[in-house]
Amino acid sequence: MRVMPVVPRGYCYGVVDAIGLAKKVAADPRYPRPVRVLGQIVHNRHIVEELSRLGVETLDGANRLQLLADVHDGTVIFTAHGVSPQVREAAKERGLTVVDATCPDVEKTHALVRKLGAEGFAILYIGKRGHPEPEGVLGEAPDRIYLVESAAEVGEVAARLRADWPTAPVAVTTQTTLSRWDTETIISAIREQFPDVDVYNEICLATQTRQEAVVVAAAEADIVLVVGDARSNNSNRLVQVVREKTGKSAYLIDNVQEIQAEWLAGKQTVAVTAGSSTPSQLTRQVIQWLEHYPAGVGANHAVRQQDAADDRR
Ligand code: SF4
Repeated sequence: MRVMPVVPRGYCYGVVDAIGLAKKVAADPRYPRPVRVLGQIVHNRHIVEELSRLGVETLDGANRLQLLADVHDGTVIFTAHGVSPQVREAAKERGLTVVDATCPDVEKTHALVRKLGAEGFAILYIGKRGHPEPEGVLGEAPDRIYLVESAAEVGEVAARLRADWPTAPVAVTTQTTLSRWDTETIISAIREQFPDVDVYNEICLATQTRQEAVVVAAAEADIVLVVGDARSNNSNRLVQVVREKTGKSAYLIDNVQEIQAEWLAGKQTVAVTAGSSTPSQLTRQVIQWLEHYPAGVGANHAVRQQDAADDRR
């Protein structure tokens, strides 16, 4: 089978820095124990498991403030997705040692929302409900920011905003890991409600370039495989943009063992990409397996053994 590894793919600088910081804390006894991460450091279970082997516990749950309620000692690491000011304050009140792995691109959105709030804007924030990044950003201006997830929601959210802030200027900004094309549709719907809206697109460069590259590659491929965790927003968006922009089949897989033979039946060319929180080794295994397909069916046993060996490291 012809395999097209998409470039760029995989780790972005924010993810590399966040993982590196967590490992550094794990190895440095000057950080008070226990060391805990408030949520998954980045959305990938392989990385969470690796940190666990290094003695770093991941607290997982829907809300950072609630997670912090049970923490009374040691070191707490804030994840690449950022946290709200309320979480920062709560960590300080508890006397915890804080290590902040927030991606600079997410920090930039926090600063923007603080500035817009201080200038008197009412803010529409395009993001994914329940994801930690919106949770942190919304906390920067809780009384004047409104989460919008889809174009269908815009009318209802606009009505609420007008009722609360009838004379305020309106701005719109975004989560960093959204689909560029999806966001454009939602912004168009917002412009219909607020023609003078100030628009700040905060989709990060890493997300944009990976989406644009996979759309170009998909045009030449019969099928696209995206290696990434089911909870990774940018990985899910890679699948979404392929399906919506090219009409090609695209599947999210956690690792090589999740490839299904029926996806490949009758296909000549497969493009492979990875979310920005996916360890490169997982993507490499997928590419190698596909390069040997259909013989790769037999090779899968060797890949599994290699996987198990990697997991033990
Ligand atoms: S995907 Fe973008 S915002 Fe998220 S960690 Fe990477 S560079 Fe930062």
